[in-house]
Formats: sequence, structure tokens, C-alpha cells
Amino acid sequence: MAEEKSLNFLEEIIEDDIKSGKYASIVTRFPPEPNGYLHMGHATSICLNFGLTKKYGGYTNLRFDDTNPVTEETEYVDSIKDDVRWLGFEWKNELYASDYFEALYQFAVQLIKKNLAYVDDSNSETIAAEKGTPTQPGVNSKYRDRSIEDNLKLFEEMKAGKYADGVSVLRAKIDMAHPNMLMRDPVMYRIKHAHHHRTGDTWRIYPMYDFAHGQSDSIETITHSICTLEFVPHRELYDWFIEKLEIFPSHQYEFARRNLSYTVMSKRKLLQLVNEKHVEGWDDPRMPTISAFRRRGYTPASIRDFCDRVGIAKRENVADLSLLEFCVREDLNKIALRRMVVFDPLKIVITNYTNDNEIVSVEDNPEDINSTFREVPFSKELYIEREDFMETPPKKFFRLFPGGMVRLKGAYIIKCDEAIKDEAGNITRLNCSYIPESRSGNDTSNIKVKGTLHWVSVQHAITAEVRLYDRLFKVEDPSSEEGNFKDYINADSLQVINTVYAEPSLKNAEFSERYQFLRKGYFTLDKDTSEEKMVFNRTVTLKDTWAKEVKKG
Ligand code: ATP
Ligand code: MG
Repeated sequence: MAEEKSLNFLEEIIEDDIKSGKYASIVTRFPPEPNGYLHMGHATSICLNFGLTKKYGGYTNLRFDDTNPVTEETEYVDSIKDDVRWLGFEWKNELYASDYFEALYQFAVQLIKKNLAYVDDSNSETIAAEKGTPTQPGVNSKYRDRSIEDNLKLFEEMKAGKYADGVSVLRAKIDMAHPNMLMRDPVMYRIKHAHHHRTGDTWRIYPMYDFAHGQSDSIETITHSICTLEFVPHRELYDWFIEKLEIFPSHQYEFARRNLSYTVMSKRKLLQLVNEKHVEGWDDPRMPTISAFRRRGYTPASIRDFCDRVGIAKRENVADLSLLEFCVREDLNKIALRRMVVFDPLKIVITNYTNDNEIVSVEDNPEDINSTFREVPFSKELYIEREDFMETPPKKFFRLFPGGMVRLKGAYIIKCDEAIKDEAGNITRLNCSYIPESRSGNDTSNIKVKGTLHWVSVQHAITAEVRLYDRLFKVEDPSSEEGNFKDYINADSLQVINTVYAEPSLKNAEFSERYQFLRKGYFTLDKDTSEEKMVFNRTVTLKDTWAKEVKKG
């Protein structure tokens, strides 16, 4: 877009920080928890964090927030790295919150020594009951006044694995009557005899999010720690730990989660779709994950463009899937190679055609001024799309009908002379004649036709499977509907056509390439392709078919 875009609120803050000399350059981080594949919401956060340091100088770290030993898996770490790179970003340092376990432990000891933390042997019910409510203050735990020496010794023993899970926790000593419930002596550490994917069995205590995130930011000298709105109440605690520990003052800024219409956007829900086999996996092309987008044929540029257009907000919002698809079309229109593929074939015989092995040359991409051309074999017997013929056409039907004329893309004008039927009355074939002087690029026929059809030569056609996708959910915001979000799954979100007929150049289709099947949509090769069978995914239709339906309705 040519026009100058106004700054978003984070850009304004950063520009002020740079102007005032607070920072010479900035440091951000993208902190995924490796407990699932990244989705479109994460893409927003990635584009934001990496985009800001690209714009203002500095760098972005990739930090795996792996403080919870139970849910994390290495498989997810690898997929997250692939996804960030695929989106076009490179991190400065690859880091793990678990790398800071020793440093965090030392921070906790410091707070105990300052009499700002204590070991509490109360069970979780008691701790919850003593917290009070938003309108009622809490009460102090009976362990709150333990001596510093006792606390140091007990915390050391918790670390050494002397106690079973749940026996005690380490809590910050703040204020049990604090108006912010999160400030009422929050838990910093819990005992968990669990194996961790990186630190193994070294640790028997694990830090809570609130005691890990801010300190990790500070260790990395993150200047702008950007997270989503649900962390607003945590900010006070984030600042409290940093202030009491007297470490680098990272600051937390919040923006609204990005939701996308006709889908769900939480790893927990997406995991359910996978586990309960509503989809075939995390990268099923109907999923809103980055790996699914990649498999389906979306481009990184189109996703970045979408994030840019939607911008960031301070209020929860649902971005329109149609806008994402618009961005995908915009990009694919520029780069996709045009190919001819017939989905539902009707054979035509050109009765006056006597050549064999004629080759026509067709432009790969009319949107590209440097477009290459490919050779497409033309012959006496061709397939056209069955729906491109009607025996008794309505007005303004510019395709084929008895006595009607059309151009075959890149080749000749033909006229339909006769529809041949079987005993049941089904049309099995069309007899046509062609106008020899009408060859594309050298047309001296002076005949004007309104319709152009795609076609393939019967004897040269290759076959493939195509998979057509529709929205995964029937309603705009399945999570906010009554009942379970899974009640709103669209049962018709996948249509498989086992055999389509394609021009032979597609034999050399590449995974990295994008194609426009003329009049059919944008397609890309799917990973299920094998020696025996090519499989193509429809990335997106040529037009917004849903918009049309709204108008019709
Ligand atoms: P989920 O609820 O899907 O598990 P999460 O927030 O727990 O998401 P994390 O891996 O912890 O996922 O998030 C990594 C980063 O991505 C965080 O900074 C988080 O705020 C951001 N993020 C996650 N979901 C969204 C979203 N829908 N919109 C914007 N940012 C998001
Ligand atoms: Mg999470």
C-alpha cells in the first residue's frame, strides 16, 4: 500500500522511547510454549515482535517458554522453528526459559533473604480459601512468618526432592489484602517430580509463569515485552519482582488476541480436533495453523500482508477469514503459473481437424510482464468441463451450446455442431468443428466470441487427485456459541475429486510452485503426492464464493 500508515500504539511508545533516549535500539522476544503447533494468532505475535525490531533496529529472541515439564515436547520445538523461519523471520538467539532455572532459583533465594518470600506448607485448598475474593481481603497463611533461615533450609530441601508433589510451595510475601488478587502472596515455585524435556530429572521444583517470564525478559534485556490482554493483571507482579530483585527493567505491553472467523484459535481446542480425528493432523489444510497454511499453499507474504492490514488492537476482535483469503489471492495472482485442468470431463471431437501433434504455446502468467510460455498439445479429441455445455442455454450463457461458438484457451475458436447421447439420453460427446484461421495470436477469422474455455487433449492428459476445502466451522465464532464448539463443525469442509484431467506440463509440478488452474482456483501440490498419484490442494477459490452467497441470500 502506497499511503503512509499511521503508527500503532506500540510503534508510538517505541518512537517515544527512542526519541527520549531511553533506548538506542530495542529488543523483543517471541515466547511460545512448546505444547502445540503455532496458529494464526501466533503469526500475529511473530509479525509484530519481529516486525518492530526490523523497523526500529535491534533484535528479537525466540524463547521457548518451557517451564511446565508435563506438556512440552521436542516435536513442537522443531515445528515452531520451521514456522517462524517460513514466515520469513530470523531470531537472534534461540533460548529456553529452562536455561534460566538456576538463575531463577538464585533470584528466589535472594527474595527469601530479603524476607520477601516464604515456604508455605498449606495445601492448595487452604491457599485458595485464604486468598479471599475480589471484594474481600485474604488472610495471612500461618506459615507466613517463618524465619529467613527456616525458609532457606526448606526451599533447599524442596529443591533436593525431599518432599512429595504438593507438600509445599514458595510464595512471594506481598499483601494478602491487595486489591489485585494476583498480588496476594502469589506462588513462585511448586514441587513437581517430573521429567523435563531439556533439564531431565535435575529439578524437583519448577517456577510458575509469573516468576519466570519477567525475569527471563530481564536476563535477556528485553526492552518491550509484548503479550496479550489476559496478562494485564499480571503486569503489577511482573514489575514487583523486577523492582525487588533490582534487575534490568523490562516492561510488559499488552495487545488484543487475534481471532479469525470460522475457526478456533487455541492450542487446546485445536488439539481436540486432532485427537478426536475431526481433521487429519495439525497440518490438515483446514486448520488455522501455520503448518496447515503452508501445506495448503498460502504464502508467507500473504500472511504478513494480512497481519499488516489488520494491525493490532487493544480490544478483542475477530478478523475476517475473507480478508486473509483476499491477501492470499492477491499474492497468488502475481506468482501462480496458469495451467488447464478439467475436473468433470465432457469429450469433444473436432470433426474437421486433421493435424496431429500440434502444439500451442500458452502464457504462464499474464500478470507477469516477463511471463514465460509453455507448450500445450492440441488434438482432435479434447476434454472440456461438462458444465461448460448446455443443450438449452439461458440468456447470456457464453459457453458452449448447439450452434454456439467459443474460443479454446490459447488455441482455436470452435463451434458445437451436435451433442451425441447414449440410450439413456446422457450426453456422451460433442461433435464440433474448428475455424482454422482463428488460431490464438494469429487470428484472421474476424469472428468475435464471448467465452473462452479451458481444455486438455484426451490422449495427452495426465490425471491427478484434487482436494477442495471449505471453512472448518459453520458459524463465525464457534467458541462464543452455545454448547460445544465442536457442534459447529462444517461436515462438508473437504471434497475430494479422485480423478481430474490435466495438461501434461503439470507432470513436472513442484512443491514450491503455485498454480492457478484456469477458472478453478489456486492450487499447490500436497505432501500426499506419490509416484502413483499427484495430489493437489485448492489453496483458495478465484473469487470469494461466500460473499456471493451473502448477496444472493
Ligand atoms: P493458546 O491459548 O493457543 O495455547 P498461548 O497464548 O497459550 O496460546 P503461547 O505459546 O503461550 O500460546 O504464546 C506465544 C505468544 O503468542 C505469546 O506471546 C502469546 O501472547 C501470543 N499469542 C498466542 N495466541 C495469540 C493470539 N490469538 N493472538 C495474538 N497473539 C497470540
Ligand atoms: Mg499458553
